[in-house]
Amino acid sequence: MKVKITKNKETIAGVEQFLSRLDSDSSEEEKKQHEENRKDPYLFAVTDLTFCPRRTYYKKTVDEDRDLNLKSKLRLIRGKLYDELISGNFTDSQLEVETEFDDGIRIHGRVDGIGVEGKEKYVFELKTIETLHFIENEKKPTQSALIQTKIYCAMLGIKRAKIVYFAPSDVMEFDIRFTDDELNQALQDAHSTALGINLAIRGGSLPDRQPKNHWKCRECIYKDICWGENNG
Ligand code: SF4
Repeated sequence: MKVKITKNKETIAGVEQFLSRLDSDSSEEEKKQHEENRKDPYLFAVTDLTFCPRRTYYKKTVDEDRDLNLKSKLRLIRGKLYDELISGNFTDSQLEVETEFDDGIRIHGRVDGIGVEGKEKYVFELKTIETLHFIENEKKPTQSALIQTKIYCAMLGIKRAKIVYFAPSDVMEFDIRFTDDELNQALQDAHSTALGINLAIRGGSLPDRQPKNHWKCRECIYKDICWGENNG
């Protein structure tokens, strides 16, 4: 018997095909729109406001749309599969939401689902994750998941959310209720982050880097530009 072992490669049977199928699911028109949205200095995805403002600045200003690394692509595949499996459980799934502010800044997102329990609506947010260890230790969702979900709740006027973490062999749910103040604050914070990036793109100073060796930088696809040049 001859055995050839391949690890951590997109060329493993099925992975590459699945990824190209995800890509080909989008029409040329959708791809063009995606590219325009990516470069639009007034339009921000909610997820781009929850991580690192400097990364969003690069996403909008670097010429090419950079590819995700393999780990992120595999997480994306798992996320897509879970999304398809759970979408039937909700009245609205993959719901597109957008809010526009007076200064022209717009934030948009796609909510995984809106559920109803009794008469109460909740925002459902699904997160795929490698392991639950960090979440279990912290006893709360990650900061970025919490901010993202809070912004969705504020945009939809819904005060309750369920954030569910799916690890390969484990699952954990957080059932959260927000106050009006928390939701208003989340929307204001999202707006000021977006405005800061917008001003940077229009000639202001570059958003600050994360502290050196920060975990956010570990898998960042703009690390080479960000840390590789003496650009402030
Ligand atoms: S390398 Fe770090 S500081 Fe720089 S853009 Fe990426 S996450 Fe932000």
